[in-house]
Amino acid sequence: MPLARTSAALRRALGRARAAGSSVGLVPTMGALHAGHRALLERAVADGHHVVLTIFVNPLQFDDGEDLAAYPRDLEADVTVAEASGVTAVFAPSVAEMYPDHPRPPAATVHVTGPAEGFEGVARPGHFDGVATVVTKLLATAGACQAYFGEKDAQQLAVVRRIVEDLSLPARIVGCPTVRDADGLALSSRNARLTAEARAAAPSLHRALGEGVTVVAEGASDPLVVHEAMARVVGAEPLVEPIYAEVVDPVTFRVPTVIAGPVRLVIAAFVGGVRLIDNMAADPPG
Ligand code: AMP
Repeated sequence: MPLARTSAALRRALGRARAAGSSVGLVPTMGALHAGHRALLERAVADGHHVVLTIFVNPLQFDDGEDLAAYPRDLEADVTVAEASGVTAVFAPSVAEMYPDHPRPPAATVHVTGPAEGFEGVARPGHFDGVATVVTKLLATAGACQAYFGEKDAQQLAVVRRIVEDLSLPARIVGCPTVRDADGLALSSRNARLTAEARAAAPSLHRALGEGVTVVAEGASDPLVVHEAMARVVGAEPLVEPIYAEVVDPVTFRVPTVIAGPVRLVIAAFVGGVRLIDNMAADPPG
């Protein structure tokens, strides 16, 4: 499996792939791959691209140093998953390669307003600017490509779509469905931190979203009613401390005054002290 460590090496490899007639598929991750990441890789491979898995634990998107230090890293295992998924190459740059000034912040970063402002943007100040900066760098390096992101991080997906549009990047963004455990819990590298009791309580986020989807499908047009329905479900679990449970416009990530078309239901909670997020699409009747 070819492993590029520098942006220059990745650019050269993609130049060769394009010269040989391939299109490029890019799957940006922070590694520690699970079945959710694998679904992105398999989709990109099925679409027929020369697929590059990028693995970079991006320090700019972490707001506290401890979370960054604790982030799981296992390049060898990730390369094995990539090989099994039919990926063509891996790009795993060092922090010094991506940010030569580190630990000082880069002089040029990408700042996003609009869909980056609420929810995760409030809870994790600077997070989306960190995501935006690294995604812009990766897309600028890769050039024309199709880039795959998970709906699991729906707000991030909305932010990335906005960056591509506003900065005229030559990428087409593909959103991929959330992969879940059998009991509905969305796969996340954070799930490994849940105790047995917290793991048993965690599917209540998925159940709350399901309840919200039903309430919207039954014709509730007031976002507050949907919020209350979701909050009741997570509120019944003593180990779950809700952070937000709202209805948003899928593009702007603003709470609409009235539900009049397709919306996204978003939820975040501490479950036994571990911060989890999830979301689901919901459609009003007719
Ligand atoms: P991460 O490594 O956590 O930054 O995630 C890399 C990509 O995988 C992002 O586009 C995520 O949205 C996506 N992803 C993470 N978990 C899942 C999941 N359970 N299902 C689908 N995609 C996911």
